[in-house]
This record gives sequence, structure tokens and C-alpha cells, in this order.
Amino acid sequence: MQLHLEVKNIAGTLHFDNKKNQLIRTIEDKVEGLPDPFLQVFNQKIQLEKWLLQNKFPRMPLEHLVVISNPSTIIKTTQYIPELIHNGNIPLKVQQLTQRYKFEHLPTKELKKRSSRLLKKHTPADPDILKLFSINQSELLRGVFCYQCSTVGMKRLSAKWECPSCHFSSKDAHLETLQDYALLIDRFITNQKLRNFLHISSRSTSTRLLKSMQMKHSGSTKGRVYELPLKEVQ
Ligand SMILES: [Zn+2]
Repeated sequence: MQLHLEVKNIAGTLHFDNKKNQLIRTIEDKVEGLPDPFLQVFNQKIQLEKWLLQNKFPRMPLEHLVVISNPSTIIKTTQYIPELIHNGNIPLKVQQLTQRYKFEHLPTKELKKRSSRLLKKHTPADPDILKLFSINQSELLRGVFCYQCSTVGMKRLSAKWECPSCHFSSKDAHLETLQDYALLIDRFITNQKLRNFLHISSRSTSTRLLKSMQMKHSGSTKGRVYELPLKEVQ
């Protein structure tokens, strides 16, 4: 048995209408329609079946669950939907499904082959976050983020970043902020863009920072483009 989980982290009250394939969320008197996670998980099942067929893997039963990860989200439905659960119910559901599929469809060796192929073919999602949430680049707060007190705008003073609010100082606070730049705006950055995003006025300071990060780069001095490394997300 293969189990698909469509996990949703949505706050408020969710009303699932499984006849109309509609999801309505109410939060602070605001009512809005959202994409139906059941349609999403069905589409994924169809895509996976197609992939298995193309890769000549034998078919196996596919099950699905829509999981609401926020325990305070209130779930309402027009009728009982057994595949709709809060995340705390996952172990119980998995146990029930395992009971249902006692018969072994595939030997362990075959399963391992299948999972290693799936992992090998996995490509990480790289959505355009700003577009997704209709945020303009100009709306982003610029400057180095203080992870002690969340103030944005640490100052670069004598080879260190210092927070004007809590006076926390750090040598490499820019790394986190550049990680945000890579995830929100672009994996590639120039000296000028870096100065602009970190609020650094001195070109030699930004050059020093760029050098210290030892990034892959291309192009000549002024227009040189650096590739920001992405940290592995656990
Ligand atoms: Zn601070």
C-alpha cells in the first residue's frame, strides 16, 4: 500500500464540501474559497500511477489522506470524510490501513528499488514565493535580521554586525539574511544587489563579505554574479 498525505497548514475554520469539491475557510469574519486538497491529492495519485507505469513498476493500492496540521483548525464537513484528519490521528490511520492491507503486494526488495528510484527522480520544489503570495519585492524589509530580537537593520561596525535595539553582535548575521534573499528573490546576486539588500554603503565591505563566503561566481569584476548556496532544509 502506498499512502499519499496532503498536509495543509491553514488556520481558522475549514468547511469541506465534498459534493462540490469546495473548501471554504473562515477566519476573523473573512470567508474565502481555497483549492480543494482532495482534488490535489487525486491529481498526485494519477501522476504517480502514470510514473509507475512508465517506469514499469507493478501497480499497488494507493491510499490518501488529507491532513490538517494545525491542531486548532476547526474542521467542518457536509458529511463524514474518513480520509480527512488532524495530524495527531496519523498513527491510528496508518495502523488501520496496515490492517486492511495484510496481503503483501510486493517483496521488500521491489519496494526498496521503487523507493530509491523515486528519491533519485525527486526534484525539490522551487516556487516563486513572492508571486505565490502576491508580494512585491519592494515590500520586503531590507537589512540584516537580528535573530536575538527580530529587528531588521543590524549595522556593520568593525567587522561585526551590531543590532541597534538589543546590541547583540555577530560576525556572520548576513548569512541568514542572504539565505532569505536566495529563497525569496534569487539564487544569484551581484555586489550592488547585496549592498542594497543588506543596507551596506561601502563597496569594499560588501566585497569582503562576498569573498569570505567563497561562492561560485561568473563574469568580470563589476558585473560579477555570485551563486548563493542554499542550506539543506531538514
Ligand atoms: Zn537585536
